[in-house]
Amino acid sequence: MDQFNRLPGIGPKTSERFIFYLLRLPKTELDTFADSIRNLKENILICQTCFSYDERSPCPRCSDPKRDRSLLCVVAESHDIIPIEKTEMFHGMYHVLGGTVNHLEGIGPEHLRTRELVRRIDANGISEVILALNPDLEGETTSMVLSRLLKEKPVRVTRLAQGLPTGSNIEYADQMTLAHALQDRKEV
Ligand SMILES: [Zn+2]
Repeated sequence: MDQFNRLPGIGPKTSERFIFYLLRLPKTELDTFADSIRNLKENILICQTCFSYDERSPCPRCSDPKRDRSLLCVVAESHDIIPIEKTEMFHGMYHVLGGTVNHLEGIGPEHLRTRELVRRIDANGISEVILALNPDLEGETTSMVLSRLLKEKPVRVTRLAQGLPTGSNIEYADQMTLAHALQDRKEV
């Protein structure tokens, strides 16, 4: 239970359910489960092109000839790629920064993969960089730092439009969300 409790988003109740589930499994299935965890670090590596976690480097996305190499989507973490891929709207390449700028915790742009980003832009014929970072303080700061860093580069720098989430109510929207929704308004 202690081990499960350490996982993000898992409380004691869920841990307990996990334990009872695992106890009911046949031993062979439990062994497969244990082996997957044991081999995690050996089987998963970091793609040396986009820096996402994968079983191969370059990862299937970086080695897919059908993807548009002129578009580069910058995300903070490897798992941010999944929801973007699920939209099936983006067919370009990715770049995982490995975090966001956080002045309070002493994380500056030099601690992220910004040098690698600049190197990719200098080398690859990229025409547009899309900043897909969270609309929170760290994400905003990182977007600002990156757009400043890329100012002199011959690339278009864009960011995700941030509007009101579907089903939300203007009355309860926070100031930042509403300000962005106004800024990124579209012709109807
Ligand atoms: Zn990759």
